[in-house]
Amino acid sequence: MYDVAIIGAGVVGAAIARELSKYQISIAIIEKNSDVSEGTTGANCCNIYEPFRQPKGSLNQKLLIRGNEIYDEMCRDLDVPFKRMGSITVGFDEEDREKIENMYNKAVENNASGVRIVNREEIAKLEPNIDEKFKFGFYSPNCGCVWPFQLVVALVENAMDNGAELFLNSEVKNVERIARGFKIITKDKFIYTKYVINCAGLHADEINNSLAEYSKYTIVPKRAQFIVFNENIGTMFKHLVNRCPKEGDRGLNILPTVGGNIVMGPVFETAPDKEALGTSEDKIEILKKKMSRLSDKIPFDKVIRCFAGLNGKEESGKVILGESEEVKGFINAASVDQGITCAPAIAEMISDIVKDIFERDYEPIKENPDFNPKRRRIYRFKELSDNEKEELLKRDPKYGRVICRCEMITEGEIVDAIHRNCGATTVKGIKNRTKALMGECQGGFCEPRILEILARELGKEMNDIQYDNRGSYILSDNI
Ligand SMILES: Cc1cc2nc3c(=O)[nH]c(=O)nc-3n(C[C@H](O)[C@H](O)[C@H](O)COP(=O)(O)OP(=O)(O)OC[C@H]3O[C@@H](n4cnc5c(N)ncnc54)[C@H](O)[C@@H]3O)c2cc1C
Repeated sequence: MYDVAIIGAGVVGAAIARELSKYQISIAIIEKNSDVSEGTTGANCCNIYEPFRQPKGSLNQKLLIRGNEIYDEMCRDLDVPFKRMGSITVGFDEEDREKIENMYNKAVENNASGVRIVNREEIAKLEPNIDEKFKFGFYSPNCGCVWPFQLVVALVENAMDNGAELFLNSEVKNVERIARGFKIITKDKFIYTKYVINCAGLHADEINNSLAEYSKYTIVPKRAQFIVFNENIGTMFKHLVNRCPKEGDRGLNILPTVGGNIVMGPVFETAPDKEALGTSEDKIEILKKKMSRLSDKIPFDKVIRCFAGLNGKEESGKVILGESEEVKGFINAASVDQGITCAPAIAEMISDIVKDIFERDYEPIKENPDFNPKRRRIYRFKELSDNEKEELLKRDPKYGRVICRCEMITEGEIVDAIHRNCGATTVKGIKNRTKALMGECQGGFCEPRILEILARELGKEMNDIQYDNRGSYILSDNI
């Protein structure tokens, strides 16, 4: 029997797993997909937000403050790219001016450092490609960006290095109460645990409601669509730029990413269901029209792809964090706001709850004396100095064979991504860990070679390698 079972390997579940691996307890991470970070965490704006966006003193604000401040050290320890690029919210009419002044006052009230109101001249210096009509803005240096997929891989890998176990392809169908714990029923196994932490994102309601009688809740999905630009325009915008929120124009963002691409969006809509990840031409056209109001220089011919993300919030919008009052030992971490930013803080909060309930039901849990917060270094070949490249090539010549020519990703990086804890088993897994297939050709040249490497390293036939989830075979025998 595990001490704790975490259902869902998105950013929230992954951060909790790592936090709990600091203690001498057994941890199972149960994920329905063939890889981690395939839910909401896999498709969003990737920002580490500033704390002043939430009401002063609210739980959300506390989580944002703590989450934001943890990021530098956490990403350093885990060797995850993280950049504090800062943000500018721009406006042009009186209504915008008032909103921008309010934002500034709220930020100052909340002790935000380095924030200021900027005029046209300064906007032009910070972001020369923003339309001239934007005469004033609110600047904050504390906003950052991360690649959430890589963060989740790193968190889970580090949790596993410290003793946690990961079960992929293990959709939880039901959870039952048993004496002193729970029986988790997946398609092909039972997992027994003293406590459950429900981090199933969009599907957290189904997990909770399989146990609860009077504390059921409903998660409602909302869809957001984005466009991604070729890396060539990566230097055109340097900060997160957002349009001062207006009726019908909520949250229009220009998002520089840690990977060098620019993402723009989103346009929001109610999603028909929790799997509706398709994009639509009409929404993308609306998005492009809206974005061109921010800058008429945006080169839409450099768009390389579109994608959609789904956010899941409880019907009334409330955050659901903590032990269920009805089902003791069952902890929800669901319907969170700005979950990428808040996840490390949520993890600390849930870890405190787990410590308390262990003490209540058993005895205090002890710290793990062998806990190592650091992840083994990842060699990103193109970022190394000439000396480092030479040294690495002597140790492993696979780093001398470029597989993805657009992104300059080597065989050594791909093989390493397969053989770590929480390693890649699919083509998409390689793409998201290494950035191979993400360039202009979108895998046109390197995908067959990656398929070959995956098959060789995993001891499988090429026909058995999938793009991502069950059934997405690339070669024809399995279709
Ligand atoms: C468009 C958009 C933009 C956003 N931008 C930002 C941003 O810039 N900054 C920020 O901080 N936040 C942002 N967010 C919010 C953030 O993405 C989410 O709060 C966060 O990703 C939620 O993480 P999670 O782990 O709770 O859920 P998820 O990432 O959805 O993880 C849940 C996991 O549970 C698994 N699962 C579900 N059901 C089962 C089951 N039955 N059995 C086993 N596993 C199961 C899923 O497969 C999934 O892996 C954005 C959200 C959206 C939609």
